[in-house]
Amino acid sequence: MNKEDLWEAVLAQIQFNISPANFATWLKNTGVISKKDGTVWISVPNSFSREWLENKYNKIILKALHGLDEDVKEVKYVVEKAGLKIGSQEKIFPLLETDQLELPEFNIDKGTNLNPRYTFSNFIVGSFNELPQAAAIAVSREPGLVYNPFFVYGGVGLGKTHLLQAVGNDVVKNFSAKKIKYIPAEKFTSEVVSSIRNHSIENLKAKYRQLDVLILDDVQFLAGKEKTQEEFFHTFNALYEKNKQIILSSDRPPKAIPALEERLRSRFEGGMIADISLPDFETRMAILKAKSQERKVELPEDVLNYIASSIQRNIRELEGALNRLIAYQRINTQPPDLEITKALLKKTLSSPSKVTNLKKILQTVAEFYDLKERDLLACSRKKEIIKPRHVAIYLLRTELKLSYPFIGKKIGGKDHTTVIHGYKKIMNEILKDENLKEEVDLLRQRIYGI
Ligand code: ADP
Ligand code: MG
Repeated sequence: MNKEDLWEAVLAQIQFNISPANFATWLKNTGVISKKDGTVWISVPNSFSREWLENKYNKIILKALHGLDEDVKEVKYVVEKAGLKIGSQEKIFPLLETDQLELPEFNIDKGTNLNPRYTFSNFIVGSFNELPQAAAIAVSREPGLVYNPFFVYGGVGLGKTHLLQAVGNDVVKNFSAKKIKYIPAEKFTSEVVSSIRNHSIENLKAKYRQLDVLILDDVQFLAGKEKTQEEFFHTFNALYEKNKQIILSSDRPPKAIPALEERLRSRFEGGMIADISLPDFETRMAILKAKSQERKVELPEDVLNYIASSIQRNIRELEGALNRLIAYQRINTQPPDLEITKALLKKTLSSPSKVTNLKKILQTVAEFYDLKERDLLACSRKKEIIKPRHVAIYLLRTELKLSYPFIGKKIGGKDHTTVIHGYKKIMNEILKDENLKEEVDLLRQRIYGI
């Protein structure tokens, strides 16, 4: 077998072992340079592809190579060109199915509420979401039997809904007889409220208790909704006892959801809890590449680089930026260069959400702890208000570098020594208390994330 055939055979094998999105991102633009003395040299388009292949895929690549040619003992990766060659006639490995799709129109299924656009195959995996993705796949293969409930949490726009729906879609595919429902917690709440009003709560109970898989998205919205919590508690138990799968998501861990009944919290904590953190730079690049490939568009490397460096905390925003550039390319029939990109994205990147302000911090803290903004500013010494107030002070200081007297003035006319006390308290406690650290991290994500 010559070296080109060897590499094509390897790629063909690997294609079955990893998701199409990851394949397209990391392997599609690779080639073989040489094969000598047991070493195969592979060309890769850039240095982070090289790192990714070395760290993540080297084992399967080497195994596939060795399986086809026993002499191969080692693989080396070489960066061969510094950017994607737009419009060049470079040979591209056979098109993947997704490349042929032109922005497909998907319909949300009325019965399950699932959107077929969310699948595992277009879900990019990196260290930030490896655990929830692996657990989600396990759940979709054996619903009700492995992790029950399965609880995913993470900041806004980081793929919770995508992952939950991918499980649902996979179960539909693999177990056609199973009854599945996806529902955002807010919608569930309004169903409970209206069925109480219409005296049809029995119908609602029956509807949810006959399911095999119930997916409740954004359960933080159950905070303070007592009736809904009670109804959900009984539904949860009924399903759980029959080994039916329950899948939940939230923007924070169960212990940080305010005004959630203890019995519900302990149910949420009874299975697998997995968090989606923030994607690193390489993964943000991978996501951009996979998504542009899906749309059959190639954007210059420096343009992708710029987007991935500028948008760090929200995959939905990454997609939004990409869409704007794709629209430009469609209209102008050529890709935007870096200058044009900067101009096109200027507004998004410098929008108020990117830089925060006092109002935003107070609003976010109040909403997080289920308080009114004016509670934070009032004189109350109630325990449930003091901690959020200290957290607000801490964030105003760390994020905006405001002076203590100024913060004091803004936070209900407090003396600056009170402000210093609040700031130091949180600063010290964060070092000892994992939960508090997590809460503050989540708050930061929300302050900048939306
Ligand atoms: P969340 O529910 O956490 O707010 P979503 O699931 O709605 O976030 O994700 C926001 C957007 O980003 C969606 O269009 C989704 O398809 C996309 N997205 C999120 N994570 C990934 C990922 N790992 N790979 C590919 N696309 C992703
Ligand atoms: Mg969501």
